[in-house]
Amino acid sequence: MSEALLTLPPYIKVALPVPMRTLFDYKVPKAIALRHELKPGMRVKVPFGKSSRLGVIVALSDTCDWDPEQVKPLTSLQDESPVITAELMALCEWAARYYHHPIGDVIFHALPVLLRKGENAEFRTENWWFTTPQGQSLDLEQLSRAPRQQDFLKAVQQHPNGLSQHAASVLDLAPAAGKSLEEKGLLRREPRSFNKGGEKHAHQTQVPPTLNPEQMRATEHLLDYRHQFNVSLLDGVTGSGKTEVFLRVMERLIEEGKQVLVMVPEIGLTPQTLKRFEIRFNTDIVLMHSNMSDRERLDAWLLAASGHAKIIIGTRSAAFIPAPNLGMIVIDEEHDTSYKQHEGFRYHARDLAIKRAQTLNVPVLLASATPSYESLTNALQKRFAWLKLRQRAGNAHIPEMERVDLRGKSLVHGFSEQALASMKLCLERKEQVLVFLNRRGYAPTLMCHQCGWIAACDHCDVNLTVHKRANKLHCHHCDTQKALLHTCPECQSEELFTVGEGTEQIETQLSTLFKDVPILRIDRDSTQRKSAMAKLTQKIHEHDQAILIGTQMLAKGHHFPNVTLVIIMDADAGLFSSDFRGMERTAQLITQVAGRAGRAKKPGHVLLQTYHPDHAAIESLCNLGYEHFAIDGLAERKSLALPPFYHQVIVRAESGNEQEAMQLLSAMRNDLEPHFAKEVYLVGPYAAIIVRKAGQHRALISIKAANRAPLHQATQMISDWLELSTRQHRIRFAIDVDPLETY
Ligand code: ADP
Ligand code: ZN
Ligand code: ZN
Repeated sequence: MSEALLTLPPYIKVALPVPMRTLFDYKVPKAIALRHELKPGMRVKVPFGKSSRLGVIVALSDTCDWDPEQVKPLTSLQDESPVITAELMALCEWAARYYHHPIGDVIFHALPVLLRKGENAEFRTENWWFTTPQGQSLDLEQLSRAPRQQDFLKAVQQHPNGLSQHAASVLDLAPAAGKSLEEKGLLRREPRSFNKGGEKHAHQTQVPPTLNPEQMRATEHLLDYRHQFNVSLLDGVTGSGKTEVFLRVMERLIEEGKQVLVMVPEIGLTPQTLKRFEIRFNTDIVLMHSNMSDRERLDAWLLAASGHAKIIIGTRSAAFIPAPNLGMIVIDEEHDTSYKQHEGFRYHARDLAIKRAQTLNVPVLLASATPSYESLTNALQKRFAWLKLRQRAGNAHIPEMERVDLRGKSLVHGFSEQALASMKLCLERKEQVLVFLNRRGYAPTLMCHQCGWIAACDHCDVNLTVHKRANKLHCHHCDTQKALLHTCPECQSEELFTVGEGTEQIETQLSTLFKDVPILRIDRDSTQRKSAMAKLTQKIHEHDQAILIGTQMLAKGHHFPNVTLVIIMDADAGLFSSDFRGMERTAQLITQVAGRAGRAKKPGHVLLQTYHPDHAAIESLCNLGYEHFAIDGLAERKSLALPPFYHQVIVRAESGNEQEAMQLLSAMRNDLEPHFAKEVYLVGPYAAIIVRKAGQHRALISIKAANRAPLHQATQMISDWLELSTRQHRIRFAIDVDPLETY
């Protein structure tokens, strides 16, 4: 031990969750150094200012950057082994550099919430019930006068490997009955660490379908390259059997003892997807998404970190999940923008996953029916293998897309006559219609007929959305909510009316047009509660005839076999966006929604309602399909020097004061621009499209370069400059590398 003390460096460099782009030095007290082996990735309590903070050791060091006299000792050590493995520490350090984000914030982001708060990184224990020999042989009839005990004992008898308390409560068994049986010596209880699992789902075996030649080719490629870093883009039309392909590859890797991380979009993890994995794999699967409690997330994290969980299915933050035997990362719906964090630490989970896989020398599979322009470019330039599936799997066919010209037509609740007639026919055939409108709520605007007053958010430059069901006005930008008004606050008139339609309104109106048809709305409002989505999808499967109304939530990953008609109410919605990615997003959304039609045996049909049927984009998308559309779009991006051909960084500033953010960015540009490399282009500062959001006035500046190095250098200078000059002001700034939003 004394030897360890001699060789142990006297300082540690600690990352703290504070908005400063630096590490903090602390001394290691002898008492701690004698008893513990400190390692990077362990958590420590340290004094910070007048309080104490939890931090993570990033490095042990012989030197410190401060006057050694002033360096304080750490207070206590929180872990016996690192919670951030060496591999993840390297990833965090890379991400902090690449995204110009404070290292402390990055490292804390990588940890589950409970570990950020100091919880022990240990499995909780749970009680398990077992029968005693008497209990196992007891005739249940003898308990006929105590039916709850009878039920309880029967259940445990049927589980020779024990029944967890959790499983007992799922089965609705009365805890008091268990205790009585224990007192009678018929049952015993044993605490078990949660990780023992053992409660595998009754494994339903299912014969997997025979792969078609396209699927076979893709699978063979992926199997051939499964032991080394490489990225494949599995580019397959909706319903072409992409999932089937990666399930095959996963099977093989899991047989080889590997873990597989499957990333899914924020709201794309459908109960159906999970079911499919459970049916296929007789192994521990853990989930990691935002709809879980903090404890559930820590349990999942521990199961992955211990290697027990072979399959980890998670959203964006799962990119940082520890997995000692990670053998592959799958990113499903790789084009989805929810992989990019839009505030704070603005990383892209896909890009991070690729970096991680490269370090680990394992493959990455990106799957999508509508690949991002970034990934398509990588495929075109042969950095990614491009695996195409152009046929739908099984007997399903690609749906036909038809434009409905709305010009000069009379509309009923936003529907053309043609759309209504097709709906009627579809429902008569006992099939389902999907109506897509990417706007939730009842209406986007509330207006006064007498004076023209419009209900606007007090904190943002936007109108409030009317939610009739909840009787509220709601700001979709800052979440402000108010009671729905019935008199105008300006002129006291009671003639308030709504303008425009949202999903809630369409739902109400369709229920008057189609009285006996079940109508199900799927959007963020209708699926807030935990199991709401599962219930809704179950309902959809129960009925033959139905109308589904939804926002983009409906476009993600669902498989509704009886949907044969899709109506896109407003195909023009993203056509004239000021963002250069507007077209890409529109095409992806339309293609994904259209892909919900005809996924089983019955053919599908898609109607796009538009006022611009001859618009080149709508025309090319309908006639030539997404790939063609995207390749044209890429040519345009290239000619305009836009991403992915140029790399971009957006610097945002926001302040409560109207001019401050703009002035700050101007001053920054004036000071720094002369020092930037010639190939760095700046645009701005310019005001955000919604200038004021949550009371903050927002300005941006865009920086572009064909190469990463000069862009990175310029961004570093900007970051240093802003950190210094915002210390005195109450201006917040953010650096967004590879931004998806540029306004
Ligand atoms: P994607 O992920 O491309 O949307 P899926 O893998 O979900 O496609 O497949 C769509 C449907 O077709 C699923 O119900 C799946 O079970 C089925 N399927 C996939 N491959 C085949 C195949 N080779 N033969 C028959 N059915 C298949
Ligand atoms: Zn008025
Ligand atoms: Zn607001």
